[in-house]
Amino acid sequence: MVPRQTVRHSTDGTESRHAGEGGTSTVTLRIIVDRLRCIGAGNCADTASAVFQLDETDVSVIVNPHGAAPDLIIAAAESCPVDAIKVIDDQAGQQLYP
Ligand code: SF4
Repeated sequence: MVPRQTVRHSTDGTESRHAGEGGTSTVTLRIIVDRLRCIGAGNCADTASAVFQLDETDVSVIVNPHGAAPDLIIAAAESCPVDAIKVIDDQAGQQLYP
């Protein structure tokens, strides 16, 4: 069962913020999963299973935005075949992927 308490839902996706590992990173990532676009391929969960999981309908959810380093989260986004994952550096105001 996927824990839901760390996931915020919006009308167009799942969004969570990542404040860095152990408080040492200054990167603040915003991760957005477009649940309407997700086809349940599972690549994101395979790449960063502590961050992404498939829910009971085989759609990706963010279970822990702090569960992996930023590079791995971006790699998970890059692995998505339908570009359903957006990663934004909130502090820099820069979209890191796609
Ligand atoms: S990789 Fe993309 S399509 Fe596959 S489960 Fe993750 S978000 Fe959905």
